[in-house]
Amino acid sequence: MEQSTLNNSDLPAIEGGKPARETKIFYGHQYIDEADVEAVVEVLRHGDLTCGPKIKELEDKLCCLTGAKYAVVCSNGTAALHMSALAAGVGEGDEVITTPITFAASANCALYCGARPVFADIDPETYNIDPQKVEEAITERTKAVVVVDYTGQSVALDPIRKICREHNLILIEDGAHVIGTKYRGQANGSISDMTTFSFHPVKTVTGGEGGAVLTNDEMLYQKLLLYRAHGITRNTDLMAHEPDGSWYYEQVDLGYNYRMTDIQAALIISQLDKLPMFSKRRKEIVERYNEAFAKLPSLFVQREIPESDTTRHLYILRIVPEKLRIDRRQFFDALAAENVCCNVHYIPTYYFPYYEKLGYRRGLCPNAEKLYEEIISLPLYYAMTDEDVESVIEAVTKIAVYYAKE
Ligand SMILES: *Cc1c(COP(=O)(O)O)cnc(C)c1O
Repeated sequence: MEQSTLNNSDLPAIEGGKPARETKIFYGHQYIDEADVEAVVEVLRHGDLTCGPKIKELEDKLCCLTGAKYAVVCSNGTAALHMSALAAGVGEGDEVITTPITFAASANCALYCGARPVFADIDPETYNIDPQKVEEAITERTKAVVVVDYTGQSVALDPIRKICREHNLILIEDGAHVIGTKYRGQANGSISDMTTFSFHPVKTVTGGEGGAVLTNDEMLYQKLLLYRAHGITRNTDLMAHEPDGSWYYEQVDLGYNYRMTDIQAALIISQLDKLPMFSKRRKEIVERYNEAFAKLPSLFVQREIPESDTTRHLYILRIVPEKLRIDRRQFFDALAAENVCCNVHYIPTYYFPYYEKLGYRRGLCPNAEKLYEEIISLPLYYAMTDEDVESVIEAVTKIAVYYAKE
């Protein structure tokens, strides 16, 4: 009797054992406290809903946090990338180098501008874009490089910046995962020509939706302001004609409505107060996961570069297929049966039918394609309890041990 109970808890739930958790846990979830609620309600009761003082307050706060000179907040991270590509002067016939292991928006921003994304492969152990592969992908048409701090670990920015300087390319850092991370002691956001943030609810800091572009360059800053609001300006220095009166403004370029509301800005300002706390907890969970999974030969732990002090947005579990009797899909399904509901970040961008129609084919980036076959994003978010973390470790360990090859 006792023997069978013991066996039952070692048996993966998918094989009829007892699940590691009774309730489902998901890979990410926002954390909203009373201060956040108050901040939003205050805007609703007394504030301007859009174009009000919360926008500037948030921009100042992002500059303060990162050390960047200028910040332009906007409607979401995708808009931030589009505005950055426009400000970089990306247009028809240009090429933009990026990684395939990212959300589609990192490459789509080139397409929005009539340019062609060119995919450079990743480093097989850090999973970030490989600087050497970036250099190899450069042609006379290359205008910009969009790097992604995948999972929140900083890209090797020094070598990438050197390459961009030598080839006269604009460096856009898609920092949707990176808020709270430092590269060589300097906050990401103040290093590349432009860095974009996203405040989607799965990200470390949220506004429901929201984005930002950070830069140290005054010229890029002025362009970003224009692209955020229809290409319209009230700055007389930028006008072609004498103002007709104090109501006068001019549309001097083709921009968009990519504004953020003050409601979102107030929420993000309040969330940013919790960033040190969010970072600390995420680091603790990552350390605990790494410690547990490093012991298992059928799992590979993502390599950290010493230059990056990482606030991790995603925790990537990577299987070593040669050491397991099951593949990633079966591992994923076995975790779901344990009530650990994961995700996969990311399907290589050029696998999508839209990209296939544009002529992209599988085989472009072998390291990225291999990674995609082996990864699962585990639950990682501030509000996870120690019991949650241990139950995820229990589930992963149970499956990795049970299905290990002899
Ligand atoms: C979330 C994300 C985006 C897009 O941000 P949105 O705010 O959802 O538009 C872009 N790139 C990466 C890497 C992301 O994770």
